[in-house]
Amino acid sequence: GMISKTDSSGAAISAKTLERGRKSIAGGDSSTMRVLPYHIPLVADRGEGCRLWDVDGNEYIDLNMAYGPLLLGHRPKQVIEAVYRQISEQGSQLGFPTEVTIRVAEKLKMLFPSIELLRFANSGTEACASAIRLARTYTGRRKLIMFEGHYHGWSEAVFTKYHAPLDMLPECGYGPAIPGTSGMTDALDDVITVQWNDLDALERCLGEHGADAAAVIMEPISGNAGLIMPREGYLQSVREMIHDRGGLLIFDEVITGMRVSPGGAQEHYMVSPDISVVSKAMGGGYPVGSFGASAEIMSCITDGPLFHGGVFSGNAIVMSAAEAVLDTVLADKENIYAHLHAVADQLAGGIREIYTRLNIPAHVNHLGPLLAGLITKEEVEGLYNYRDVRRHCDFERYIQFQHHMQRAGVYFHPNEFEPMFLSTAHTSADIDEVLEKWEDGARQCLV
Ligand code: PLP
Repeated sequence: GMISKTDSSGAAISAKTLERGRKSIAGGDSSTMRVLPYHIPLVADRGEGCRLWDVDGNEYIDLNMAYGPLLLGHRPKQVIEAVYRQISEQGSQLGFPTEVTIRVAEKLKMLFPSIELLRFANSGTEACASAIRLARTYTGRRKLIMFEGHYHGWSEAVFTKYHAPLDMLPECGYGPAIPGTSGMTDALDDVITVQWNDLDALERCLGEHGADAAAVIMEPISGNAGLIMPREGYLQSVREMIHDRGGLLIFDEVITGMRVSPGGAQEHYMVSPDISVVSKAMGGGYPVGSFGASAEIMSCITDGPLFHGGVFSGNAIVMSAAEAVLDTVLADKENIYAHLHAVADQLAGGIREIYTRLNIPAHVNHLGPLLAGLITKEEVEGLYNYRDVRRHCDFERYIQFQHHMQRAGVYFHPNEFEPMFLSTAHTSADIDEVLEKWEDGARQCLV
């Protein structure tokens, strides 16, 4: 049953454990995203289905789902069985090509027809970094064009200050990339950042840099900037514009792949990129990334100078988990995505209804099991890119609301830029429970 909490003392063991963690792990955890200053300490104990328990014994309905990988929920039976079979009968890491890896590639290709050949990596960061090298190798060009508010991992190639303050962003809509961390050298000298969903800004940028542009890389849905959808025809136009200049289009489908639809945003919007990056959802909670393209582009690896490695790339545990996810999806695509869309529609519709009824200025954006309930400072007509979200959203109030919801037993990330994720394990009854608490929280924190 639900243990209700009225104050943060209900998470005392979490706070103490994290304090202990800070003595051996820098900041208490290995990803800065998980230990931000405005997080209420939550040290996770275990998950099951759509629920999560912390070390204090508090139960949460999880709307974060480990930032996206848990498409089938926490500890899906078929993934556990596949992993157990692999490690007990064949081995976790064999150091040779394995058939399970080949099968996963074959099955992933069934969902992504734009991919003829692919490579596996261990994370979205790695896969994006290699996708960028691939584009540069294939075109023989250096420049990379990316977008404000878009995140492609923390590698030297592409880690920009993707949530830069508005006054750091150029008026003309594009400019040199701003490094996202200290310790970077000059890799970003060849990266230009453009306002997303703005074809004029891209056209101006291509006018200056198009002849040297190896690729345009983007999240086809802006998932790290409040979940913004591309404007009608935008993806197709970007594809034509970069192709006209002789460059490639890279879709980073780390968030959208196997999530908004089995074949990702490229299937949903019917726009094929030249290079795709697929990660999170395909691994069912195991660390995987992949990048793929046509055989001709991938010949940079098969018959060319591009190196890609990794002792753990294509690791057998990870591959057995990915195969279980792919088998599940391939066996019952229609029903699985119908369910994912139905629970997301219910949640998004419910939140929208609450905000409308209580007169809370907001934008509830969603596509499939990916949604964002953005609270704005005042009524705004539309949010089309990172600058709009940054300018209009009420990040402070969102944090207050998230704290309330966390204490009430519903978890989503406190940063308003981060989307919420649902899974096949979320039922209509779970969503009803969330909405009841949502209404309560909205009345207390947002009215
Ligand atoms: N690309 C996108 C769109 C992401 O959201 C993320 C991670 O959240 C990454 C790349 C990096 O992936 P990873 O954290 O697995 O390195």
